[in-house]
Amino acid sequence: MYDWLVVGAGFAGSVMAERLARVRGDRVLVIDRRPHVAGNAFDTPDAAGILIHQYGPHIFHTNSEMIFDYLSEFTAWRPYEHRVLAMVDGQLLPIPINRTTINKLYGLSLSTEEEVEAFLQARAEPVEEIRTSADVVLARVGRDLYEKFFRGYTRKQWGVDPSELDKSVTARVPTRANEDDRYFADTFQAMPRDGFTAMFQRMLDHPNIEIRLGVDFREVRDTIDFRRLVFTGPVDEYFDFRYGKLPYRSLQFEHVTRDEEWHQPVAVVNYPQTEAYTRVTEYKHLTGQTHPKTSLTYEFPSDTGDPYYPVPRPENAALYKRYEALADAEENVWFVGRLATYRYYNMDQVVGQALATFRRIDEAIPRPVRTAAE
Ligand code: FAD
Ligand code: UDP
Repeated sequence: MYDWLVVGAGFAGSVMAERLARVRGDRVLVIDRRPHVAGNAFDTPDAAGILIHQYGPHIFHTNSEMIFDYLSEFTAWRPYEHRVLAMVDGQLLPIPINRTTINKLYGLSLSTEEEVEAFLQARAEPVEEIRTSADVVLARVGRDLYEKFFRGYTRKQWGVDPSELDKSVTARVPTRANEDDRYFADTFQAMPRDGFTAMFQRMLDHPNIEIRLGVDFREVRDTIDFRRLVFTGPVDEYFDFRYGKLPYRSLQFEHVTRDEEWHQPVAVVNYPQTEAYTRVTEYKHLTGQTHPKTSLTYEFPSDTGDPYYPVPRPENAALYKRYEALADAEENVWFVGRLATYRYYNMDQVVGQALATFRRIDEAIPRPVRTAAE
């Protein structure tokens, strides 16, 4: 008999398992239908021996010292600040849009933040109520920059126009009047020194944690003896799609190794105007690995395939609310993570959500008292 069955060995499931086992001494079985731990953050050496991320580039960033300290128990870090260029009108330009982007694109030499703000304000479109992912960009940078950097990329990535997505999606990417060309502005930005998978292995390495991979919850839910459940898969799937499918956006990844040392100047190049793929990642920039060849991933968004992104728009939020009511009513089951709570969360937010869930559980459920013989 396990105290807990944890479905999913990604950030949500692994943090829950680690806390339950280590802090409470609970006995935990973790299952995942994939053949590996780490969920979407899984990284592994490819055939050439280059460390790649099987499900696209993952860069750790957070403003929470608590979350950074927690993960630091399981990994050392490689300092890394992420930089992204976008291929626009035949040039590689910084995204988030900053002073350099504007100067290069329009052949200008704006030299102060005030000049850049004035440039943007002269182009920004008045929007009465900022509601959608189109509004938020148009109101800040105007139509030309919106169309060049955001409209095409968003249509590719999400399969809908930015005007049909919540503002929260494109609001993830700021616009800057200075020359800061980092993708994230968070206090802590780093890559796990030995990779994400190694960090997960250390997290899950505990005598009270058993892991079974390649196992789907639907096939074993009636055969495993457990008291309580942590579910981190898609919430609509848990309830057999009772109210219909919650839309999740998927991606197809094309991984290639090239016989050249470097392919592009930064880890990620975005393609908002051309190509069927959204972006190209070159991993050695992220990992610092030295190798005479280089490995890249091309991302092709798609409606079908593994669920990767909840799609933030009002009708989906309404459908999720109905599933959330079912989830709240479920006895002895906790729903955690990006798929189970239908939230477009970064890794650190999932860790924070799992730690908070653990604290609630630990307050509500007395810790087990075991005899030495057990
Ligand atoms: P997941 O990692 O999806 O884990 C859920 C696990 O549950 C999966 O392994 C799945 O196989 C398993 N599972 C589901 N259903 C079942 C079942 N029925 N039975 C058994 N197992 C099941 N975040 C960042 O902070 N920085 C980034 O740079 C970043 N880049 C990203 C790039 C891409 C392409 C994507 C898709 C996401 C990115 N993220 C990034 C987000 C990050 O991947 C997530 O926040 C995080 O991985 C979510 O963890 P999770 O445990 O909730 O879900
Ligand atoms: N986006 C865009 N052009 C870009 C980068 C981002 O239009 O060059 C939009 C797009 O809709 C994307 C969203 O901004 O889905 C959020 O980007 P982010 O990089 O945060 O997405 P992630 O890959 O982390 O999910």
